[in-house]
Amino acid sequence: MKVGIDLGTTYSTVARYDKQTSRPEIINNKFEKELTPSVICFLDNGDVLIGEDAKDMQAGGAGTIAASFKRGMGDNSFTVEANGRVYTAEDLSAMLLKKLISDAEEKSGEKIDSVVITVPAYFNDFQRTATIRAGEACGVKVMKIINEPTAAAISYGYNRESNKTVMVYDLGGGTFDVTLVKVNKGNIQVLGTDGNHILGGKDWDAAIVKFVCEQFVEEYGVDPRDDEPTKNELIVASENYKKILTRTDSVTIQIKYEGYSSKYTLTREQFDLRTHFLLNATKDVCMKLFGDLGLSWADVDEILLVGGSTRMPQVTNFLQNISGKPVIDHADTDLAVAKGAAITSEFYCSSSTGVREVQISDVTAHSLGVLAESPGGDRYINEIMIKRNSKIPSSVRKPFKINPGNMTNIIEVYTLQGESKVPLDCYVLAKVVISGFYNSGDGSIIDVEYNYDENGVVRVSAFQEGEPLQVDAEPVPADISWMGDRPENRSSGAPISKNVVLCIDLSRSMRNSLEEVRKVINDFVMSVGDEYTKFGLIGFGDKVGIMRDMTNDPNMIVTALDGLKVNAYGRGTDGSPFGTAAMMLSNRPGGKMIVVLTDGIWGKRDFAVGEALNCKNSKIAIVGVGIGEADLGFLKQISTVQEGAMYTTLDKLGETFSTIASALGSGSMGLRESAGGDGGRLKSAEVRGRLR
Ligand code: ADP
Ligand code: MG
Repeated sequence: MKVGIDLGTTYSTVARYDKQTSRPEIINNKFEKELTPSVICFLDNGDVLIGEDAKDMQAGGAGTIAASFKRGMGDNSFTVEANGRVYTAEDLSAMLLKKLISDAEEKSGEKIDSVVITVPAYFNDFQRTATIRAGEACGVKVMKIINEPTAAAISYGYNRESNKTVMVYDLGGGTFDVTLVKVNKGNIQVLGTDGNHILGGKDWDAAIVKFVCEQFVEEYGVDPRDDEPTKNELIVASENYKKILTRTDSVTIQIKYEGYSSKYTLTREQFDLRTHFLLNATKDVCMKLFGDLGLSWADVDEILLVGGSTRMPQVTNFLQNISGKPVIDHADTDLAVAKGAAITSEFYCSSSTGVREVQISDVTAHSLGVLAESPGGDRYINEIMIKRNSKIPSSVRKPFKINPGNMTNIIEVYTLQGESKVPLDCYVLAKVVISGFYNSGDGSIIDVEYNYDENGVVRVSAFQEGEPLQVDAEPVPADISWMGDRPENRSSGAPISKNVVLCIDLSRSMRNSLEEVRKVINDFVMSVGDEYTKFGLIGFGDKVGIMRDMTNDPNMIVTALDGLKVNAYGRGTDGSPFGTAAMMLSNRPGGKMIVVLTDGIWGKRDFAVGEALNCKNSKIAIVGVGIGEADLGFLKQISTVQEGAMYTTLDKLGETFSTIASALGSGSMGLRESAGGDGGRLKSAEVRGRLR
């Protein structure tokens, strides 16, 4: 039997997909409860209690309690010591999983052999790998690790004949996450995710503690928060008061400290007012995600509530107010994640036999980079390979120059997870050592490839001239402080710069397309733009004009896009932009590329093809994008590579440019000979010379 498991911080749940009813169903634990506390209790006599029994002990204060250990996943410094043994969060999770599985087997009378386990979207590589290992330690196959918000969206949307963009708003005990998902007849596409991982229900509890103590101080001049045990008791009690305020309009709180005692009444209205800033903080996260994705509330169809804290009535009110969108109070707030995992175990794992047309695409919550030297060689940087909110699985290959000073025959590659350019602000995920490459000593090139698999786990490989190189994993050294110093000869060298000239057909026929073109080019330069990439902009018709010479600043291109006017260079297409573009690219270090966008048949085709050939000989890559009346045969003649000729439609133009953007990032374009060739590979160094 296959099951889905929500391995939660406070509670865990097991579910399976029932083929008879075509629905996911929760498998209750031995106590007939849907939720099992994620708590383990080590008794002094050596016995170990897990789940409900352990939680009972926790209240009584007996034995050694392990709780909330999910927070320590992937962190080897998080340990619990009991009866002479040291347990990591991974060990504890394995014990809990084993208990969940054996309870579910007993309940259902069936053996469980495969599981899908959910993790928070923000879990990094360490935490995911630790979760997989914990599952495997139970002797089951871990088919897949999926993100909790994705699972919630699946359970909500898998059976709906809708094409909707859903915001999954997950406010838990100590974390807040927001995820945007497109749901369409079982196809689940995650658009992006973000979160604040120090914001959660506990902050609402703290607001109650503050409310009570401030009045107590006013009345008696002593602060109950000064005494640790009193404070902790008050925090625990406040969680209860908070839950009462979910049900009723006010709560009376009694407090005793240092011989004084008082009663205070807190109305829901006061409570909402005092915690409004916390809701605003969740809004900030939503707005940031919108900003990253170029979306707004207008693009959201529904808001799906997940997490215990969304039970507070203020959450629904707030979201309705700021969004004007329907807020769906999923009756399954606590169960949606496990149910989504169960559905995943049935339909979305590669081993399944495709019972129905379903597909899921998720994104990464963190950017993934490689430790490289800055172009000037004066510091180490995190060179991002895979940007956050990229689709997974994904794979990116980038060429790196070997540092000319590297006289060893190995290169150390450090994988960094994080958004900052500064390596020490990121997680150092892994270290691998590359060997067996050729190094001329004057900047030979190797390709480093990153693969995010569908569990969100990273693999590193390396190539030279297309041939795989030896890659060996090594432990990350304890002391990595040198990453903040000036580089010696440690890293795999600096990334190679790129130059891209965009040439836009402005002949008369483009008049209805120009607005969309502007938008697409805008998105393209904003997504590709980084400190190693220079763009130029050319408009052409019967004549050719440079609208913006090469610049590092994508905003300059965006401004120049405003100047795109139909007929600006004549009504026809007698000109060819290649000569001008080649001039802009000449004498520039790094790879060179021309992207031409046209919608028609050019007046002087042979001349244009000749100029394109000159570009090819100068190691400039040309990509020809055609819409409308454009001719694919001609595009193939001017493009330097077969894949470089792309005929598309206006509404797919954005996708086409995304393809170009990722090819620019990965260097995959240009691996083939152009038209007329045998499709074999060029010598890779040559190819890269074109692109970067
Ligand atoms: P996590 O996923 O972080 O383990 P949950 O999604 O289970 O957390 O949510 C736990 C949080 O939900 C706690 O802060 C808890 O106080 C809060 N919570 C649970 N039920 C209610 C309720 N009825 N009213 C308000 N808050 C609640
Ligand atoms: Mg949760």
